[in-house]
Amino acid sequence: MTSLAESLASVLDRIDRACHRAGRDRSTVRLVAVSKTVPVERITELVDLGHDLLGENRVQEALAKIPQLGGRAAWHLIGHLQRNKVRQVIGLFELIHSVDNLKLGREIDRRAATAGVKQPILIQVNVSDESTKHGAHESELPELCDGLESLDHVDVRGLMTIPPPVQRPDESRPWFVLLRELRDRSAARLGRDLPELSMGMTDDFEVAIEEGATLIRVGRAIFGERPPD
Ligand SMILES: *Cc1c(COP(=O)(O)O)cnc(C)c1O
Repeated sequence: MTSLAESLASVLDRIDRACHRAGRDRSTVRLVAVSKTVPVERITELVDLGHDLLGENRVQEALAKIPQLGGRAAWHLIGHLQRNKVRQVIGLFELIHSVDNLKLGREIDRRAATAGVKQPILIQVNVSDESTKHGAHESELPELCDGLESLDHVDVRGLMTIPPPVQRPDESRPWFVLLRELRDRSAARLGRDLPELSMGMTDDFEVAIEEGATLIRVGRAIFGERPPD
């Protein structure tokens, strides 16, 4: 078995090389280490190696883990968020990747206002229909952008997507290109920058970097295979 140190080094090296190929500055790509199902001891091991950005997809699991890392890492919520859990997540996550409807946005706004913070979010887009049941459709995006932009305690930072699983990394490319185009169109609509593009996972993160990803969400390539859900 390869050690966590070796797996992390290998992923970081692949990121370096993808940035180089794409002519991108390495500092424009951040690695979100996806620690779902991974025990706190192993996450701590990763943080001890110097990695400080983690992603969880389930609120309950994240709430149990975050206090145990004692503020040594930043956390992103990458999975579906139910409205009734919003209160629990405000202030805990540096970024919520999965906002896909305005009702959810309004609840985040309301709870963030109460907490006296502005919550950074991404809009999750369903690019392919087959991929997941979550995510806003392309046709809903303009209205959703406008609605979220009008909320004082929500900061829309960009877009996120989970494309359908692929056999070869290159098959994800059209979805990544589409997300980038949707981001550019949304930014033009809002008349400001939308800097973040969250796309690319273990099987295709290098292609995502080539197509402009600023946040890649990588689990298995770092922590190894997960038990099936
Ligand atoms: C699990 C998960 C990932 C990481 O997937 P890997 O294939 O393990 O890299 C990325 N994004 C989301 C939303 C996930 O749920």
